[in-house]
Amino acid sequence: MSDKLQLIPLGGLGEFGMNCLALRFKDEIIIIDAGQMFPEEELLGVDSVVPDISYLIENRSKIRAIILTHAHEDHIGALPWLLSELNVPIYGTEFTLAYVESKLDEHGLLDDTDMVEILPGKRFTLGAFSVMPIHVTHSLVDCVALAIHTPVGTIVHTGDFKIDLSPPDGKLFDLQSFAELGKQGVLALLQDSTNVDRRGYTPSEVAVRPRLDEIFAQTRQKLFFACFSSSIHRIRIALELAHKHGRKVAVIGRSMDHATDVAQDLGYIEPPPGLLINPTQIRDIPPHKLMLLITGTQGEPMSALARAAVDNHRFAKVEPGDTVLLSSRVIPGNEKAIYRVIDHLSRRRAEVIYDDGHSGLIHVSGHGCQEELRLMINLVRPRFFIPVHGDYRHLSKHIELASGMGVAEKCILLEDGDVLELDQHSAVKAGKVTAGRVCIDSGGDTRDVVEDVVMRDRRIISEDGIVLPLVGINKRTGRVEGIPEIVTRGFAPAEEELLAEARQVVSRTLETSSPEEKADYGVIKEKIRADLKRFIQKSTGRRPLIMPVILEI
Ligand SMILES: [Zn+2]
Ligand SMILES: [Zn+2]
Repeated sequence: MSDKLQLIPLGGLGEFGMNCLALRFKDEIIIIDAGQMFPEEELLGVDSVVPDISYLIENRSKIRAIILTHAHEDHIGALPWLLSELNVPIYGTEFTLAYVESKLDEHGLLDDTDMVEILPGKRFTLGAFSVMPIHVTHSLVDCVALAIHTPVGTIVHTGDFKIDLSPPDGKLFDLQSFAELGKQGVLALLQDSTNVDRRGYTPSEVAVRPRLDEIFAQTRQKLFFACFSSSIHRIRIALELAHKHGRKVAVIGRSMDHATDVAQDLGYIEPPPGLLINPTQIRDIPPHKLMLLITGTQGEPMSALARAAVDNHRFAKVEPGDTVLLSSRVIPGNEKAIYRVIDHLSRRRAEVIYDDGHSGLIHVSGHGCQEELRLMINLVRPRFFIPVHGDYRHLSKHIELASGMGVAEKCILLEDGDVLELDQHSAVKAGKVTAGRVCIDSGGDTRDVVEDVVMRDRRIISEDGIVLPLVGINKRTGRVEGIPEIVTRGFAPAEEELLAEARQVVSRTLETSSPEEKADYGVIKEKIRADLKRFIQKSTGRRPLIMPVILEI
C-alpha cells in the first residue's frame, strides 16, 4: 500500500458544475463537495447531471466523510445521488447544512444521514486527515476553504471565492489564516478557476447597491426583483432597498421561499416586521408599494418568472408599466431561454432591466478575478499548484497565470478521473479511475440513472419504445391547427383506445395553455411531455422516450 496521498477529481475539472474531489491516504478517503450540473438543452428529459461515482462505490468502506465548502448546487446538488449509494456523514457549516437538510428530506434521506456542523477556524480530525475550515467570501454566505493536514503535507482547497473586503454580512475573508498556512508551508493549492480570464478584481457584493437603489427610485409600478435563490447577499440588499423605498415584499416560488426562510432563521437577513407579505395579499397592495422577489433569471421554463411572463402564475401578474429586474448574468448556453422570457415580458409591456451591457452594475460575480487569484497564490505559496472549478481552457489559463508568478515549483493540470500522487517532494500523475457524467431522469427518482444520454435514449427506446406527439401550431396566432397526432415505434399500445386517450391528453394540455405558452416551444414541449409521461406510465407502467414535435404552420 502506497504511503502517498492521492488526489482524485471526480467532477468539476473540465466542466462547470458537479464538483467532487476525493482525497485518499492509504485506506482512508474523504470527499470534498458533491455537486450537480444543469443539463444542456439537448439533454431532453434529463433533470440533472451528476458525477460518476463508481470509484467511490468500489471503495465504499474507506470513505470517512463528505465535506461541503458551501451550499451552491454545483457543490451539493449530487448529495441525494451519493447518499443513495453511500451512507457517509456530511460535514458543513451551519448555513450549508440547513440548506442541505430540506434537499435530503425531499429524498427521504434525512433520517439516515449523519450531519456534522463545522466552524471556520475550528479544526477537526477524520482518520489521517486533520481539516481546518477557513472562512471565505463568495456570492453566498457561510462559505469555507479547507486546509487539509495530511501525513505528507498540507493541502489547501479554496472552494469558490472572491476576496470581498466589504461583505454585506460583515464576516470578513480570513486572509490571515491563508498567510499563516503559507508561512508554515503548503504542499498543494487547489484554486477556483472560474474568472481566470478576467483582469483585475471582482467588485464587492455591495457594489450593486447604488444602481439597484436608482432602479428602485425610478420604478413607478410593481417591481419584480429576480435573482438566484441562493444569492443571499443580493436578497439582503433587495430587502433593505424595498424597505427604504416603502415597498412590501412577496416572496414567490418554492426555492426562494426556502432560501429566505433559512437565511432569516440564521440571521443573514433581518426583514423588519411587516415587510414580508403573503403572496395572497398582493392584490390588496397598490403596485407602487410592492416588490416581488422571484426566481427564474436563466429562463428556466418552469420557473416562477417564466410562468409569470406567460401569465400563468397564480400570484405574480405582470402588468403594463411594471419593471422586471434580472439581477444576474446571462449564463452562456441560456441565452435563448432568457431572451424568450424577456420577449414575453416585453410583450406584456413591462420594462425589463437585464445584463445587456448598458444597465449599470446590477450584478457582480461571486468568483475572484486574476489579481485575487494571484493574491491567494502569493499568500499560500504552495509547492504544487492545481487549478479546479472550470472548463479545460480555464484550467490551462490558470496554469499559465500561476506559472508566470514563479511561486510554485510545479503547476499540474488535472482532469476528472486523473489520480495525482503526492508526497513531500513530488507530485506525479499515476493512472486514472472511472469518471464521467450520469444523467438523472425527471421525476427525481435517483434510481433512474444511466451513464450517458445516448445510452439512456437507446435503452429506453429498446425497452419501452418511443412516442412522438406531433402538434401543428400557427406561429403567428398561437392556434393549434388540426388534432395532435401520435406516432410510436417499439411502443405498441395494446389498444387503439389508449392511443386515442393519449391524443386527448395532448389536446387537453394544449387547451389549458395560454397562447403565449403555445408560442413558446420550450414551455409547451415540456408541458406535453410531462402530461403524456404521467398518463402513459399510469396506464401502462411503461416509460417510453417521449419527444414532442412542434410543426410550425
Ligand atoms: Zn459557489
Ligand atoms: Zn461552484
